[in-house]
Amino acid sequence: MRHTFSLVFLLMAIALAACACLALRSRRVIGKYVAQTVAALIPPVIGNMIIIASGTKAQSTLGCYIYFIGMDLVMLALTGFTLEYCQLPKLRAKYLTAVRALLAVDAVQLLLNPLFGHAFDTEPIPVDGFAYYRLVPRLGQTFHRVVDYGILATVIVIFIYKLIHTPRIYAERYGIILAAILAGLVWETYYIFSRTPIDRSMVSFGVFGLLVFYFSIYYRPVRLLDSMLANIASEMPEAMFFLDVSGHCVWANRPGQQLAELGEGEFDDATARLRAMFDISLESLDEWSVQRQVAAEDGVRHYMLQKHALSDDRGRLLGAFLSVRDDTQEHQALQREKYNATHDRLTGLYNREYLYERIRQMIDARRDARWLVAFIDVKDFKLVNDIFGTAFGDYAIRAIGAWIARTLPEGSVYGRLAGDTFGACVPEDAFDEAALEASLSRFVVADGAVAHSILIHIGVYAVTEPELEVSVMLDRAHLALSTIETEYQKHIAWYDDTMRRRILWAQQITAELPDALSEGQIRPYLQPIVDGGGRPVGAEALVRWNHPEKGFLSPAAFIPVFEENGMIAQVDRHMWRQACAILAEWQRLGRDQFISVNISPKDFYFMDVAAEIRGAARDCGVSPARLRLEITETVMMTDMENRIKILESLRSEGFQIEMDDFGSGYSSLNLLKDMPVDVIKIDMRFLSRSEHETKARRILNNVMRMSEDIGIVSLVEGVETREQYGMLSDMRCRLFQGYFFARPMPPAEFEARWLDDLRTEEE
Ligand code: C2E
Ligand code: CA
Ligand code: CA
Repeated sequence: MRHTFSLVFLLMAIALAACACLALRSRRVIGKYVAQTVAALIPPVIGNMIIIASGTKAQSTLGCYIYFIGMDLVMLALTGFTLEYCQLPKLRAKYLTAVRALLAVDAVQLLLNPLFGHAFDTEPIPVDGFAYYRLVPRLGQTFHRVVDYGILATVIVIFIYKLIHTPRIYAERYGIILAAILAGLVWETYYIFSRTPIDRSMVSFGVFGLLVFYFSIYYRPVRLLDSMLANIASEMPEAMFFLDVSGHCVWANRPGQQLAELGEGEFDDATARLRAMFDISLESLDEWSVQRQVAAEDGVRHYMLQKHALSDDRGRLLGAFLSVRDDTQEHQALQREKYNATHDRLTGLYNREYLYERIRQMIDARRDARWLVAFIDVKDFKLVNDIFGTAFGDYAIRAIGAWIARTLPEGSVYGRLAGDTFGACVPEDAFDEAALEASLSRFVVADGAVAHSILIHIGVYAVTEPELEVSVMLDRAHLALSTIETEYQKHIAWYDDTMRRRILWAQQITAELPDALSEGQIRPYLQPIVDGGGRPVGAEALVRWNHPEKGFLSPAAFIPVFEENGMIAQVDRHMWRQACAILAEWQRLGRDQFISVNISPKDFYFMDVAAEIRGAARDCGVSPARLRLEITETVMMTDMENRIKILESLRSEGFQIEMDDFGSGYSSLNLLKDMPVDVIKIDMRFLSRSEHETKARRILNNVMRMSEDIGIVSLVEGVETREQYGMLSDMRCRLFQGYFFARPMPPAEFEARWLDDLRTEEE
């Protein structure tokens, strides 16, 4: 019996020592306190072991000392542990000091027992025929008990307090320790009062030590975890359903219960409801995620469903959970964002980028269909803004957008390209040009008091090359607009390929002009002008472009382009200076011919014509009388008074003015009398085009007679035949020019053929 207990106590001491080591090594704060408490339990156990095993009074007494002092250590450590375990750090400092003091006093008085014998003694009693020394308590022993029980009582009070004041889930960890303490206490107390020889209650020390160790270091409150997780799941905004392996719903959080319209705690119907709502199968355990749209009272709702399989630590399937997220708001936000990115704020129509994309899609989807791409432009929209204000301007743009949406046939796409321009793509067979023209002819935007008729032009490109970029198609439609820019009656213009070629040509030669001028590609040709006797009196300078790649270009190929963009001024300035250079040379050689140069009406917009002419003549030292200036009637059509002044001043300086292409425009003989003109040039070709030749001849005759009357010389150009020459001579025409005499030619040839001939003749 003794030996059995000794062995049990020894093993207990070893086990406690091992736990103390493990606790010390644990990284948790409580580890240190646990280690102290568990280790403190060892001396009482050892003390008891000695008492049980000893055969002498001295040995038993030693055992008693170890036991008592050990108990003081247990109380000290237990107090520290309790304060930490019950999380009462505030109490620690003062309380611990008091406990330490009490225990110190107790230890000292116990250790003084050998001197005074006031604490205890031992007396032998026979157990199993063996002397066992039983404790005989004295006053000091009572003090010791009061101290230890007192401390233990406070510990118990603390645990009871925690037990009552913490959530049920946590009570467990306090309750178990408390129970162990109480059990030990009762057992120990029973031993003390029963005075049985062997202190069996020591076993409770071991148990207590192990419980403290386990609950402080290793124990995880599973129920706590469970309820925490369930709480989290409940608080989740998305609906969650937990399914067992057969797909049966075992639990759903609150949003889940609401979504599937489940009653409190009734999860049985969930699976069927979910299947009906979202058309999903939950029986299998595979994982998936799907999106679903469900019609609801407030419109379509969008859901994101995800199913996850759940397995335990060893990978065995436990079931699954399904989460259902209501994405409707995100979806709507996304839709809004997409709408804003693809639509124009003001009109609500597609914006440029999205229109391009839609037109591309439409054309690509039906390549065999015939499409029209239209560019819609508001004429002089700036004026609308200026006159009526931007608020009305915006209103007008919205009205035009609405008109487009209303008027274009079904199957069209349209959008706003920029400010006052719109684009569209229309199926050709649905396009009703006449109806559109009619609608545009009375287009009025009215905003209460303000009504303004607005001119809208539409350029149309019939898509012949569907692989072209949409921007290029719209560019082509835009190009077509240029042909009706100044028109008020016609609103729709069609693009054709000559238009594109013309524009490309214009762009190319415009870019090439500066080099062409400086490199001498652009040169004058001279066409002789002869008198009644066929003798040359001068020449007209006609421009030629000897293009390095395209060869010889006639003025018709480039003059209209440069008249359009104003670069004609550069060409003419160059021609005038070239003519003056030739004249200077003739002057030097004593040749008495003049040169007529052409002045484009556009020149007056881009330069000071008089100053340029004057400068060219002066710089070359050419007498003004040798330079004749050919203007057309159109020069007089704008800013007439000013133009007359310019011409008059040039005339007064000695330059002669010729009215070119007389009769081809609107000019009347009446007008002629006010014009500062020395010569009128009548083009045979205009007259010979007329069907009534006799009538034409009469007109010609009269014009010449009349011009003679008012002192203006007449010159007929375009003389191609001997008959014409003869007839004109009969009409007393003074000067002639035409293929009958010579074609325009390079100056060197002209000089060789016409001036040297003359010299020979004169000689
Ligand atoms: P234009 O001023 O009326 O010039 C006369 C045009 O008639 C010239 O054509 C000339 O070659 C052509 N011609 C002369 N005699 C006959 C004939 O008997 N029969 C026919 N069928 N044609 C004849 P070109 O040189 O092609 O010039 C065409 C037009 O280009 C000129 O008409 C003029 O308006 C313009 N132009 C020519 N050179 C210049 C220039 O340096 N500056 C400006 N601004 N315009 C120029
Ligand atoms: Ca001319
Ligand atoms: Ca002419």
